[in-house]
Amino acid sequence: MSADPGSLLEGAMGTVANNYFQGALEERKRLLSAAIAETAADDRLTSLLGEVDAALRRLAAGTFGLCEECHDTVEQDRLIADPLVRFCLDHLTVKERRELEADLEQAASLQRSLLPARDRRAAGWHVHYHYQPAGPVSGDYCDVILEEGGNGGVFFLVGDVAGKGVSACLLMTQLHGMFRSLISVRMPLADLLGAANRLLCETATAGQYATLVCGRSGVDGDVEIASAGHLPVWVGGAGGSRAISATGLPLGLFRSSTYTTEKFRASAGESVVVYTDGLTEARDLQGNEYGGGRVCDFLKGRHALAPEALSAAFLADLRGFCGGRGLTDDLTLMVVRREA
Ligand SMILES: [Zn+2]
Repeated sequence: MSADPGSLLEGAMGTVANNYFQGALEERKRLLSAAIAETAADDRLTSLLGEVDAALRRLAAGTFGLCEECHDTVEQDRLIADPLVRFCLDHLTVKERRELEADLEQAASLQRSLLPARDRRAAGWHVHYHYQPAGPVSGDYCDVILEEGGNGGVFFLVGDVAGKGVSACLLMTQLHGMFRSLISVRMPLADLLGAANRLLCETATAGQYATLVCGRSGVDGDVEIASAGHLPVWVGGAGGSRAISATGLPLGLFRSSTYTTEKFRASAGESVVVYTDGLTEARDLQGNEYGGGRVCDFLKGRHALAPEALSAAFLADLRGFCGGRGLTDDLTLMVVRREA
């Protein structure tokens, strides 16, 4: 998703944003002054205090948050993380750019380390996924978790965090830890999403939220799916393809959100296809979207393919559709097939 997590702070919320930054800067000033009073002359602390004072003056003068090079607005999520930022991403110094690239590389490697095995067979199910960030890091969330115990099923999760870049990547890592912990507690699927929603409401930074599909497929072929405002899930079988739509609102928006689930029994060769908008919102050269309808049509007659082959076929179709253009959004595609 491309919504800017900081955009909530723009426009009519400008006063609120100013109050927020005023408070954040004054708190830093207080902490710095205390540190300076306690230590002998420290040039770094004194110069930092000078930067905080300068930011407070910019706030009073109405120039806070404007890039000193191009006078355009500095990215709000970067300002929230560090109110001393004075340049937009396009106008960083060479040193700042190198530091940012190193940080991004670290975030990307952390993210890669959290991904589950690409291909998994368990409890009579075969799961395969394709995960492709549009930039160095992704705002997509993807996990496959095997339930412990004799009759344990397979949890499959695909989500999309609002916003891009490091802040979306960090929320993705938060979702990863949260669901790993919650699933180990073994609660009903609807309650699981309710708990995840409340946790996210408590902890996510301003304006951050995520859409997500959480499914559980059991040894007997039973499937239960809950969708927090995510794109439709497609189920392909001998009788054709059908969609499972969202059963609740995105996670992290409203503390009181509740979730329902949809259940069905899959027969051998049936496949569940879950994806993010990197697939359905990809555009051809005329600007048309790939769309959910194309997913439905493409799945017909191909549902029994091995998950890896079905995923590869979708990606080849997507590449053909886009006419060679690269990804503009993060892409995740997961296929969960009932084995014979
Ligand atoms: Zn600039």
